[in-house]
Amino acid sequence: MKKIQMVDLKGQYDKIKDTVNSSIQEVLDTTAYINGPQVQSFQKNLEEYLDVKHVIPCANGTDALQIAMMGLGFQPGDEVITADFTFAATVEVIALLQLTPVLVDVEPDTFNISIDAIKKAITPRTKAIVPVHLFGQVADMEAIMALAAEHNLYVIEDNAQAIGANYTFADGTKKKAGVMGHVASTSFFPSKNLGCYGDGGAIFTNDDQLAHNLRGIVNHGMYVRYHHDVVGVNSRLDSLQAAVLNAKLPHLDMYNKARREAAAKYTKAFAGYDNIITPVVRGDADSHVFHQYTLRVRNADRNALMQHLLDKGIPCAIYYPIPLHSQKAYADARYDEADFPVTNQLVKEVISLPMHTELDDEQVRFITDSIIDFIK
Ligand SMILES: *Cc1c(COP(=O)(O)O)cnc(C)c1O
Repeated sequence: MKKIQMVDLKGQYDKIKDTVNSSIQEVLDTTAYINGPQVQSFQKNLEEYLDVKHVIPCANGTDALQIAMMGLGFQPGDEVITADFTFAATVEVIALLQLTPVLVDVEPDTFNISIDAIKKAITPRTKAIVPVHLFGQVADMEAIMALAAEHNLYVIEDNAQAIGANYTFADGTKKKAGVMGHVASTSFFPSKNLGCYGDGGAIFTNDDQLAHNLRGIVNHGMYVRYHHDVVGVNSRLDSLQAAVLNAKLPHLDMYNKARREAAAKYTKAFAGYDNIITPVVRGDADSHVFHQYTLRVRNADRNALMQHLLDKGIPCAIYYPIPLHSQKAYADARYDEADFPVTNQLVKEVISLPMHTELDDEQVRFITDSIIDFIK
């Protein structure tokens, strides 16, 4: 059996080596390292793939979130609602911009932000909701957009984990994750569903004026060379990373399909074991692109299971071990533990299994057998 990895970037690279190498070689030959033609073509290719008017490439997914919030002109003290159960980048940029993060609980089945919890958290100072499409599953965007319209709020989708996922509205319309809110951010960190070979990110929007604002902000606040109209940042996707992304984007749907197939095999193997709760897919099958495959372990020792798997050479991880409202940097007397029953429970139960595009049946069987041996 091939050695099991949490993410198999080498196996994936080997299959597309020639295209990736020649795409990178093109950058080396032209020496257009910054804002070269590869960046422009990637921007176009991604706009087409997502069916969105504007993609603004930038240096990473955290910058993308920050720049999106800068572009919307939020002021210190404005409240931004986001999920308690996610990676810290989301709340970090809210705090960095001196906005007030308002962390709320998530749904136990999808791990995504709870609509009821958002409703309870809205105040006259609320400016935006940031749903995170966690582990690859699109949040309940229909309900979120309706709430936002009712209260005149912006919606910023953190789409770092769900690129390529689809969301189906009640009337049957399908949209890609990241094009439903007013603006969205994504990350091309190597292990993400569309990963480059370093850092990268992008912002998406259908709003022409906002897109214009954002293009200046990523480039030192310049709309005309050496005229700095607003305070900006330096956040660029470099041409080498764009070259890698151009080679990989045509495979994204196939990659997401491979993840869904591996997830289906995991879920099938765990059927009938009451102390393992497998991930729930709320919408159509394509609404989840399984950035992570995350189990909830009940009435069994999750940490001992983790050690058992590591001892057998099976990598696994706890995403995420500490609720954001309990993190030193984001703790705040405003928060009441009673408002986070789900997150407080999830951090004790979750375990994420190896998930990538190269998992084979033998590996999946070894992983599932090892878990079942432990819990049965
Ligand atoms: C990865 C990730 C980010 C940050 O992306 P970087 O490119 O690493 O800065 C933000 N939000 C979520 C939910 C992520 O998973």
